[in-house]
Amino acid sequence: MSDDVCPACGSSRTRRGGTRIWGVYVLALMIALPAVLLFHLHAGIVAGVLLAVIVASHLILDTRVCLYCGQQYGSGRR
Ligand SMILES: [Zn+2]
Repeated sequence: MSDDVCPACGSSRTRRGGTRIWGVYVLALMIALPAVLLFHLHAGIVAGVLLAVIVASHLILDTRVCLYCGQQYGSGRR
């Protein structure tokens, strides 16, 4: 898998993620928690939406992080 190689240092120690994806996670949680606690939405429905947001964020952002040098890059769109 050539996509797994860091473009900055050539290390193959990379994983999916990045600050943008974590930003989406945190944002989704900050919306989901009050939705359940304050507005009494069904927790199962909120969890399903949360999961969809996380999956979508991976599909849309699709960024990888190098574990060696910390470089963040998009895979497949270079
Ligand atoms: Zn690197």
